[in-house]
Amino acid sequence: MKLGIIAVVGSINIDIVNRVQEYPVPGQTIKSEGTEYNYGGKGANQAVAAARSGGRTMMAGAVGSDSFGGELLEALRREGIDTKRVDRKSGNSGMAFITVDASGQNQIILSEGANGSVVPEDVKPLWAMPDVAAVLLQNEIPWETNRSVLRQARAAGIRVTFNPAPALPIPDDVLALIDTLIVNESEAEFISGRTVGSRAEAETAARALLDRGAGEVIVTLGSQGALYMARSGDSFYTPAYPVKAVDTTAAGDTFIGAYTAQVCEGSPIPEALRFASAAAALTVMRSGAQSSIPTREEIASFLQ
Ligand code: ADP
Repeated sequence: MKLGIIAVVGSINIDIVNRVQEYPVPGQTIKSEGTEYNYGGKGANQAVAAARSGGRTMMAGAVGSDSFGGELLEALRREGIDTKRVDRKSGNSGMAFITVDASGQNQIILSEGANGSVVPEDVKPLWAMPDVAAVLLQNEIPWETNRSVLRQARAAGIRVTFNPAPALPIPDDVLALIDTLIVNESEAEFISGRTVGSRAEAETAARALLDRGAGEVIVTLGSQGALYMARSGDSFYTPAYPVKAVDTTAAGDTFIGAYTAQVCEGSPIPEALRFASAAAALTVMRSGAQSSIPTREEIASFLQ
């Protein structure tokens, strides 16, 4: 069987991480204790998770004309991700300036760069591709583009999974265009307007989002696992694996990419949830973002 393509429409960033003892105060200059360049952006992270999980993956978005642009493209290609739909726009690539202090807290300045100039026209070629099986969206490119992608995908009969991160208010007519909405606790709270701290509260919030039009809702609950509910009445829960969490960065992105790859392969939902939960558990056991996302083989051996 030739798998359908997962088209990830979203952000591609370079994360520039500095470690410091304490944050500088305004006007102060301090020395960094070390600088790292990491590949990031929720779109690129989810694309990498889908590809390493065995999904046929294509990325649509933009990088800049700076030297990071070429490097970011190359990093995606090394994962076997098709980058034909990643434009090189004049100007900077998306950059996240992250400072981590001695207590492990972080401060982030996001410079959206080329991600801010992804327009619906850039994504248009996807609708003519017969083997696009699913579209995966986040909220780090202009909302107008995401809204257009949701409409166009529905018209083309392509399933859309939307991870509204960072959270934003979603009107009911847009929720009705989303086949699978995947949110963490704080996004579920923001969008549903209900408190979400427990599995029971997640169920209530998910039901409200289904009533407002979403086809299926998954609420990820960190170390409390993940909950799936659908308009069809199906409901599943998958626990998180009890692992030692070292760094939870990219846990959600890993879960989403791995889950989507499994569903596109035709796995039953409970199995896809278990696979995604194992993938995310492996990610939290390692420090780093994209670099901590596991391969299909690693996930399979963890599940044995
Ligand atoms: P986000 O990273 O978007 O905030 P979550 O924190 O809900 O998302 O994590 C996504 C998934 O990652 C969870 O549903 C779970 O499967 C896994 N996960 C997160 N934190 C842990 C943890 N401490 N131990 C094991 N698995 C975890």
